[in-house]
Amino acid sequence: MGVPCLSTTFSPNDPQAIPSYRYLLGHYGELTLRGKNRHRFESRLVELLSARLRPFGDHEVRRLPGRFFIEFAVEQPWNRLSETAKKVFGLSNAYGVWRVAPSLDAVHALLPSVLQGRTFGSFAVRCRRGEKQFPYSSQQVGEIIGRAVQERTGARVDLEHPEFTLWIEVMSRHLFVGADRVEGPRGLPLGMSGTVAVFLSGGIDSPVAAWRMMRRGCETVAFHFHSAPFTTAASQEKVLDLAQRLAAWHGPLRIGLIPFAPLQQQVVLHAPAELRIILYRRLMLRIAAELAREVGATALVTGDALGQVASQTLSNLSTIEAASPLPVLRPLVGMDKEEITATARQIGTYETSIEPHQDCCNFLEPRHPATSSRLATVERAEAALDLTALVRQGVAAVEWRVVEA
Ligand code: ATP
Ligand code: MG
Repeated sequence: MGVPCLSTTFSPNDPQAIPSYRYLLGHYGELTLRGKNRHRFESRLVELLSARLRPFGDHEVRRLPGRFFIEFAVEQPWNRLSETAKKVFGLSNAYGVWRVAPSLDAVHALLPSVLQGRTFGSFAVRCRRGEKQFPYSSQQVGEIIGRAVQERTGARVDLEHPEFTLWIEVMSRHLFVGADRVEGPRGLPLGMSGTVAVFLSGGIDSPVAAWRMMRRGCETVAFHFHSAPFTTAASQEKVLDLAQRLAAWHGPLRIGLIPFAPLQQQVVLHAPAELRIILYRRLMLRIAAELAREVGATALVTGDALGQVASQTLSNLSTIEAASPLPVLRPLVGMDKEEITATARQIGTYETSIEPHQDCCNFLEPRHPATSSRLATVERAEAALDLTALVRQGVAAVEWRVVEA
């Protein structure tokens, strides 16, 4: 058993000091998975986390029952570790930990280092035992170590709302002591659920829709339709900025930029004004479906929420969707704007989304778009267009980019 690794950068007199850790202990989310799926989930999560931790240098990942453990060659600052861990889908939580022998004496010996530089008025000790042979129950560990913490600090025990929590996990060969914890996003590791293609506009909703699909384990590609030169370069930049923010969660994100103005002009020339938005959307779905197949995506995703705008009534959603050769998923369909906005803030896309922008659908937008539509009417209007040629034109004009965080 090695000597516990103590923080060297955590100085009690420096309020800016950041704790650093040699070890990270993580727990998986999605506890309902069983058997082969569970195994796949755990392997994939560990593989993805390890890839994200590459910039931290050499490290070794070991899987333990229900959790995993990472040992770094050198100590790592907690702020960087936690920033990385909190963006790995499938992760339930992670702790920066010390590793000692599985005995309470070892925990006692470690306490001065763990508590160094921390001031708190109340605390809790929470123990989990992955090893049932350990001679003390979780509650006993909490009481014994709690008493020792109280003696050293004078703080009171508060199991409900502690200012500081000491985490102890007892495994067969090691005991882990953690003082810093980060919540993961949960969900499923990327790639567990296949690939989807997300319609990314510059608004608040679609980045949230993308993130929600990522969190359900979908590798993601994005499509953005723009009306350059009638819309500004800034509106495309904004979407690329959003893609970059999503890439912080996803890793490098492929985005296809599709010039849509020439196609919109055809719609404007040949179809009734009130159906324009519906026809634009149906064209977008057809083009995106073709491109999605090229990159292995098997479903399309939009940020539609029922009733939010004219194109998102139940009848319009179904008329629009009828044109799609691939399933159309709408992860926000039952959410209201406050809920969506709260998620946008949490995932870091909100500030960009609220910057003013022009969307291609505002270009040549009719004054009174239809709020209810019948498929037969829409198909009749479409008969005036050469759909095959328009789709081919859109597909051929795509410009692919890969955006990194
Ligand atoms: P968002 O906030 O995501 O823009 P919204 O409430 O403004 O949504 P709409 O503009 O009607 O609603 O768009 C509905 C959905 O259609 C968007 O969430 C997005 O998925 C897709 N979409 C709209 N415009 C575009 C575009 N120019 N390129 C790609 N997808 C788009
Ligand atoms: Mg929009």
